[in-house]
Amino acid sequence: MTQNQISKSITQIAPGVRRLVAPNPGIMTGPGTNTYLFGEKQVAVLDPGPLIREHVQAIQLAVAGSIRWIVVTHTHPDHSPAAKALAAATGAMLVGQPPPFEGLQDQSFFPEQVLNDCDRLATDEFTLRAVHTPGHASNHLCYLHEELNWLFTGDHIMNGSTVVIDPPDGNMKQYLASLRRLKELGLQRLAPGHGDVIDDPDAVVDFIIEHRLQREAKLIDALNAGGVATAEELLVRVYDDVDPQLHRVAIRSLLAHLIKLQEEGRANDTQDGWTLAQ
Ligand SMILES: [Zn+2]
Repeated sequence: MTQNQISKSITQIAPGVRRLVAPNPGIMTGPGTNTYLFGEKQVAVLDPGPLIREHVQAIQLAVAGSIRWIVVTHTHPDHSPAAKALAAATGAMLVGQPPPFEGLQDQSFFPEQVLNDCDRLATDEFTLRAVHTPGHASNHLCYLHEELNWLFTGDHIMNGSTVVIDPPDGNMKQYLASLRRLKELGLQRLAPGHGDVIDDPDAVVDFIIEHRLQREAKLIDALNAGGVATAEELLVRVYDDVDPQLHRVAIRSLLAHLIKLQEEGRANDTQDGWTLAQ
């Protein structure tokens, strides 16, 4: 890969913030995972993506100064596996939250510095503040660029597709609470882990919450109509507007909705299937 090819694939999205898209497009990843570079002299790399040699090389070639931090939003396989190799090649520090021992998590990610809610990474070029947003993943952090008031949302909010909530690490109740929290931040724009920058953050957050609550209302209707139903039976009714190709994934979010209702005392998981609580 030449310097010229690299510079063509880099988009300057704001002063001091650049984006590279990893070559992993797909049904769950849209155009690919967004890797963001903050600063010019001492750089923070956010979400280096899956371990793809050309992408790791592209990140290194894009940085004229040094990489100080490699930061991740969460440890799903399309976000963090390149971190270890990039750290080994550059001496940068790995930053984020460690993976939970559950499901499809990148167990190769060991942060040297664990970030918790409100922790900051700052240089004279930028300040990033961690915002803990469990829901899509329990260890999910968004990053607020304090000078721009832009939120780098990882998979908490994507552009162009609905986020999958995959229990038990994914949790719908927490997801909705984490969305509501974003409205307290006074955000200017959202920069997602997949897809382009999003304007009007508060309206988008409201829309996503409303969409989820409509799905929940549809689920409650289906439970009302069916008496007792399995998740598979409910899926056909509740996700009738969704491409059947996506049903394998949608059933995870359906389950997350059912668990939320159960946590709220509104549904029961019985031997024969799910029922509404009386
Ligand atoms: Zn994810």
